[in-house]
Amino acid sequence: MPCELCELREYTQHYCRFTHPFRFTILECDSCGTPMAVLGEHRSEASDFERAFMVEALTVVARFRYGDGRFVMDEVMRQIPDHCHIHARPLPDWAH
Ligand SMILES: [Zn+2]
Ligand SMILES: [Zn+2]
Repeated sequence: MPCELCELREYTQHYCRFTHPFRFTILECDSCGTPMAVLGEHRSEASDFERAFMVEALTVVARFRYGDGRFVMDEVMRQIPDHCHIHARPLPDWAH
């Protein structure tokens, strides 16, 4: 069973692709329609450094997309728990 995130990495709309200091991609999540950072390797755990770096880069994209302070980082991996990924989700209107 191929991993959906490993495949998504190749064909969905990309915001950017990092190769250094480690590989990860920020792309549009197919099912949520929100920006999402996906680790370049198929593993569930990112180091603290990797997680912080991905959140930082994803914040830049999410700020462009939703505006300053209008999104949250969602690190819960509901559908694909074995491949590290982080969603940036827009805050609902009532939260503004
Ligand atoms: Zn994977
Ligand atoms: Zn999603």
